[in-house]
Amino acid sequence: MKKLKLHYISKSLALTISVLVAGLISGCGEQQVAAQSAEQMQLRNEAALARSAQDHRQAKPFEVVTRVNGKTMGTFYSITVPGGFPGGEEALRNLAEKEFDRISAAISTFDPNAELYKFNALNNTNPYPISTLLSDIIEETVHQAHRVEDVIDITVGPLVNLWGFGKENTSNKTPSTWEIENAKLHIGLDKFEIRHTANGPLLSKRDTAVQLDLSTVGEGIGADAVALELEKLGIHNYLVAVAGANRSRGLNPQGKLWKIGIEDPTTPEHKVFAPVCPLDQGMSTAGSYRNYFKDEKTGKIYSHAIDPKTGYPIDHKTLSVTVIARNTFTTDAIDTGLLIFGADKALKWGEKHDVAIYTIELVDGKPQARYTKAFEPYLRCGEKQD
Ligand code: ADP
Ligand code: MG
Repeated sequence: MKKLKLHYISKSLALTISVLVAGLISGCGEQQVAAQSAEQMQLRNEAALARSAQDHRQAKPFEVVTRVNGKTMGTFYSITVPGGFPGGEEALRNLAEKEFDRISAAISTFDPNAELYKFNALNNTNPYPISTLLSDIIEETVHQAHRVEDVIDITVGPLVNLWGFGKENTSNKTPSTWEIENAKLHIGLDKFEIRHTANGPLLSKRDTAVQLDLSTVGEGIGADAVALELEKLGIHNYLVAVAGANRSRGLNPQGKLWKIGIEDPTTPEHKVFAPVCPLDQGMSTAGSYRNYFKDEKTGKIYSHAIDPKTGYPIDHKTLSVTVIARNTFTTDAIDTGLLIFGADKALKWGEKHDVAIYTIELVDGKPQARYTKAFEPYLRCGEKQD
């Protein structure tokens, strides 16, 4: 078996294809967004769409645009600020990297100085003091996981390593049933505990072999954090993309609504499959096509999304799941869970909970899209000609 790791080939593609539709809409900042119900947001989006046609005629390109890109969390980021960032590229890069470093220092499983790395290395069940940033991230991820039947499981670390997707990146063969069953013994949300004390949160293992993995939400948290810093500075036109997690607001460099492409997972260059306006919200895509390995003998492809219940990576025909919600922490958490569900179950779940979900499946060798009703306004806006 040969391992093929196609790591984030197209991470910056979503940015290069950020073409736009017209219209100035009244944006919503982090706090405002949090206060809004899904229904209010939907109404606001419909109103924004109605206005976009008329604003289109007024749209003018921005004279100054600040753009930076670079690497973080083992992937790529890119930030665009139409209207310009005070202090220019260097200042914007500093702002972003400060946020990414702060988050990585909490959740990285690759950096020996990171809090989570050190916790994972413990071989005891003693309470370990952690930052409130890390405890907030763990608790919010677990909350999101409960929404999707706990198919997102941050204790999946031993399985991630076993299948060769973690830092012990040595595996190049399908693990044995015994190895999988053995790893599963150390997986489950009952295997660790957070206690809040007057001196701060304490994280402890209940099973010394437990390994926490927050990499499925890192990109979304990074995009949200940079967006929040921009908001604090009074900047309301931006696109922050960290790998497949996109957080945008306001207008693009052409003075029109941001439009982001959902990739066609079946084309090597990942062409745009559908352009979408996220309308001031978070949008992210989980794909079974970016990071995987292929069994040479059977041709079977194993994705890096692992179903904690079976211990196996997903191998169904759902190629990607895109989610739009109020922030990228949420979308980045549940997109992975919904990918593990597969399109049928993901779409049913989305209709039931009124969540905007777009799936691409392989049907007779061709990509085929299906989406929930809540996704329609974003697509309609995306289809509009500039
Ligand atoms: P994608 O870009 O497809 O959304 P992410 O990078 O967000 O993928 O997340 C994939 C990573 O999440 C894997 O490499 C692994 O570390 C971790 N992971 C895999 N399966 C699960 C799971 N069921 N629950 C939580 N994390 C997972
Ligand atoms: Mg994810």
